[in-house]
Amino acid sequence: MILKNCYIYDELTGQEKLVDFLVDERITEVKEELSKTISIENKITVKLSDLDRTKIADINEHSEKYVLDCEGTITIPGGIDPHVHFDTPGFTHREDFYHGSMSAAAGGITTVIDMPCTSLPPVTNGKNFEEKFAAVKNESVIDFGLYGGVCANNFERFSQSMEEFAAKKVKGFKTYFVSGMKTFPQISLPQFESILLKAKELNLPVLLHAEDADVISNMTKIYENANDDYLRYCNSRPAQAEVTAVANAIKIAKSVDGNLHIVHVASSEAAELVNKVRNEYNITYETCPHYLYFSQEDFKTKGSSLKTAPVIKSKKDQDELWKFLEDGSCNFVASDHAPAPLKEKQTGSFWKDYGGIPGVQTLIPVVFSEGYKKQKLSLKRFTEVISTNAAKRYNLYPQKGSLREGSDADFAIINPSISWKFETRQLLSKGETSPFNNELFNGKVILTILRGKIIYSDVAGIAVEKGFGRYLT
Ligand SMILES: [Zn+2]
Repeated sequence: MILKNCYIYDELTGQEKLVDFLVDERITEVKEELSKTISIENKITVKLSDLDRTKIADINEHSEKYVLDCEGTITIPGGIDPHVHFDTPGFTHREDFYHGSMSAAAGGITTVIDMPCTSLPPVTNGKNFEEKFAAVKNESVIDFGLYGGVCANNFERFSQSMEEFAAKKVKGFKTYFVSGMKTFPQISLPQFESILLKAKELNLPVLLHAEDADVISNMTKIYENANDDYLRYCNSRPAQAEVTAVANAIKIAKSVDGNLHIVHVASSEAAELVNKVRNEYNITYETCPHYLYFSQEDFKTKGSSLKTAPVIKSKKDQDELWKFLEDGSCNFVASDHAPAPLKEKQTGSFWKDYGGIPGVQTLIPVVFSEGYKKQKLSLKRFTEVISTNAAKRYNLYPQKGSLREGSDADFAIINPSISWKFETRQLLSKGETSPFNNELFNGKVILTILRGKIIYSDVAGIAVEKGFGRYLT
């Protein structure tokens, strides 16, 4: 297939330009006006606006016959969301790998990396990994990687478990400084140090949920009550919880020269602590679309559909996080996709409502609309924070996250001129609430291509069967 008239950020020249791609499973050629220099006589040229289900099926069957004209759109390497909770096996009433992966495809995401803590059994050793792998391997419509998890349960075996994970090609090790999960309890600071040391030996990053357990438990004692009060909940998880945890983590990571990634940073003050050391040490962080779009004011209208941990912070935090994304301090945006059914999201008590939102489908829309369209991010930065940087961080690059020759033919194609209203019912996830319900976005993912096959189109929906997605080794 030829993808013609693709407007891209070209990482090799550092320029935005129009190119054509010749693709099979991989990108085989990239050139300006390639379609003029190679014979397209026997090929059928299709405009994106003319794609329907039948045509997509034929393109996927006989892609060599087709030229897709992408005029008027923006093309980026398929989005990478390296922080999702697809919950298979065990918590599939909240989300499962099939629905999660379809939701991702519909949002222009072609690769996810799934967390180890929200499945049963939790992925805390090689045997549990095998159980999860057997349950998910034929379920995904997009490519995926997995993390291994290290928690306080069976900690005496952590070193062996991490070796088992590394042999299964996990992309990193997830840990928590505060956890509400009985099956995946938080670790202590000395345990964290041991994990960092072992991970360094295995040449893989440690991912940390950085909120301090003592700060939260002290503040919860003060603020917890029976009222359905979001402000009290927010106060029980203040920015100070993130700041303390990040400071502790940095101190330890520096002392052992560890490879550390802080997940879902919501506090700009915590982010700044990483900004100060990121050039000198292998320490990075991500933020999430909800922290970039909302502030605590929005709980008034959004209620617990917006409840996450860490909790959304202030408008100032939001503005600063955009700045850190723009200037390269913040490595990438991840969704922390973690839906739950309505009955768990709306229990009648804000304290008991499930903390987590379905975000994989709205990740690109939010960052494109709020970041690129509002000129907070250049096309270069947008491409990096949505795809390239995560690929680099988790050793998937340049197979993923790149538009160069030899890379997998993964693309998200965005029509920047479509303004649209997102509604929860559009979710292909099992999630039943979204804080982005009724929000307006400028720019829409209209086509998602994975390894040369159309996996999603705006008009025809999901176009491949479950199991098309591969485990990334
Ligand atoms: Zn998470």
